Amino acid sequence: MSVFDETRAQFHLPDGLVYLDGNSLGPLPLAAKARMAARMGDEWGHLLIAGWNKAGWLDDSVRLGERIGRLIGAEKGSVIVGDTLSIRIYQALAAAIAMRPERRVILSDSGNFPSDLYMASGLIETLRQGHSLRLVAPDEVAAAIDDTIAVVMLTEVDYRSGRKHDMKALTQKTHDSGALTVWDLAHSAGAIEVDLESAGADFAAGCTYKYLNAGPGAPAFVYVSPRHLDAAKPALSGWLGHAAPFAFETGYSPAKGIERMRIGTPPVLAFAALEAALDVFELVSMTEVRVQSRLLSDMFVHEVERRCPELELMSPRDSNMRGSQVSFAHEEGYAIMQALIANKVVGDFRAPNLIRFGFAPLYNSESDVVRAAGVLETVMRQKLWDKAEYRQKAAVT
Ligand SMILES: *Cc1c(COP(=O)(O)O)cnc(C)c1O
Repeated sequence: MSVFDETRAQFHLPDGLVYLDGNSLGPLPLAAKARMAARMGDEWGHLLIAGWNKAGWLDDSVRLGERIGRLIGAEKGSVIVGDTLSIRIYQALAAAIAMRPERRVILSDSGNFPSDLYMASGLIETLRQGHSLRLVAPDEVAAAIDDTIAVVMLTEVDYRSGRKHDMKALTQKTHDSGALTVWDLAHSAGAIEVDLESAGADFAAGCTYKYLNAGPGAPAFVYVSPRHLDAAKPALSGWLGHAAPFAFETGYSPAKGIERMRIGTPPVLAFAALEAALDVFELVSMTEVRVQSRLLSDMFVHEVERRCPELELMSPRDSNMRGSQVSFAHEEGYAIMQALIANKVVGDFRAPNLIRFGFAPLYNSESDVVRAAGVLETVMRQKLWDKAEYRQKAAVT
């Protein structure tokens, strides 16, 4: 029995479904239900307000941060959990910008997730200090790093193509030019090996509902390198990031450690599901996960190209150059994905024409890959996608 038989047994997946959408929303860890029920009944229900002290709700954001930190190579006390990824990006970027006051440019790439770019634009408008957001093609980032740049803000794994930036090399280049990095790990945490400490990363953020499987709306995390913890100024200076929240002082002074990145009251109920989700990662190393995810995605690319030559691979062919997802382009991509879903293979669609498949070895097997490729072949050969109902776009794709 492989370790992945063991991890697969930890999830609820509907019978007969091949689920290749963990890059959008991971499946339910079975233990999350009991954890959540206990948190509601034994803790919230029974302890009420005493839960903050007796059940350690407030410390959870740091303790869970440490558990996530182990999956992304973060130093102890450098990660805190809560709020959403968009907010965490804003927070990390604001802190990084303030540490390079003499510079005015934020560099990112045109493939970055729109919310990250929107948050950067919003921050720039709020600051009104003449900052600008410079976007270049993903493979031109390294060449665009110069001494005008304050912050290089990148998503390590591209949400559409799965292309992976070289975190270590780009961080080095950024530092050589005197700038700081903000890394978005949305498609990295729980998917690939990340070593923030050895990469020398300055700031990072990520979500827990994708490859970490903590459920819809699960809290995000932010990383601040211990080098910067004293200097990082919390732009979102909420009371729970204060050095002494329960002194209720009128003036703000930030907490000493990563606690300064806490904003307001944490999502205590959602933490219960996150705890259960992280327990599954105790069974396996990220190295094992990465090896298996490369194997699964390579196998899928091979099978799809063999069976469906009309689909164009939009991800790097070398699995070392991508994260844990692969995408193919077809002008009828949306309808093709709807036909796949109707046939119990769930991936997703990203505008304008990409069908996207995430491979999570924790619950995806080699037989899932073969099934998915087989169904995709049938959908293409028999033109099962060619129905008006499959062209009807839903609100969430
Ligand atoms: C999924 C994702 C987000 C989503 O942000 P939320 O605030 O959690 O909605 C942001 N950035 C990237 C790169 C993502 O992949």
